[in-house]
Amino acid sequence: MTNSTEERKIRLATVWLGGCSGCNMSFLDLGELLIDLSQRTELVYGPFTDIKAFPKDVDITIVEGSINNTENLELYREIRQRTKIVVSFGDCAVTGNVSSLRNVLTPEEVLVQSYGHVPGDPPYGSEASEVLPRLLPKSYPLHHVLPVDAFIPGCPPDPERTWPALLALLEGKRAEPAPEERSFG
Ligand code: SF4
Repeated sequence: MTNSTEERKIRLATVWLGGCSGCNMSFLDLGELLIDLSQRTELVYGPFTDIKAFPKDVDITIVEGSINNTENLELYREIRQRTKIVVSFGDCAVTGNVSSLRNVLTPEEVLVQSYGHVPGDPPYGSEASEVLPRLLPKSYPLHHVLPVDAFIPGCPPDPERTWPALLALLEGKRAEPAPEERSFG
């Protein structure tokens, strides 16, 4: 039982949107640091848990992937409403990266290219909306849809980058600047 003088753990979530899951898997490369993380945080949602609904009052949510479809969009809106610090985690979330390669095609062309050359009935046209979340016109980095508070780039981000950034956020220090604020020159 939690006693009233015991410090409340930071409520942490990780989410997999339009990405390959590599960023969430790279989280496991933190190795023994995960023990440190588990002592500081309570994991309240993510691919490593069996929790179905995104919870309320989350302190930090680490988001992998871009916004590709209506399902991603709906969940991301919920995450933004319920989270104090949203972290754009990995290049697909930060820039669109691999997920945005499809932006040269229309959503209908993406479905034809994805399903039109394999056996079985392709789920495009009106049928697609019954079996798949509707694709948005393009794949968007998170901050193009709703603001984020921190960026951890990489494909996937390695532990040497992830841990110091995450530790800073856990200790309430300033988040990384947005990509637009950085100099890439
Ligand atoms: S950034 Fe790389 S590892 Fe992460 S979801 Fe995108 S393609 Fe996968």
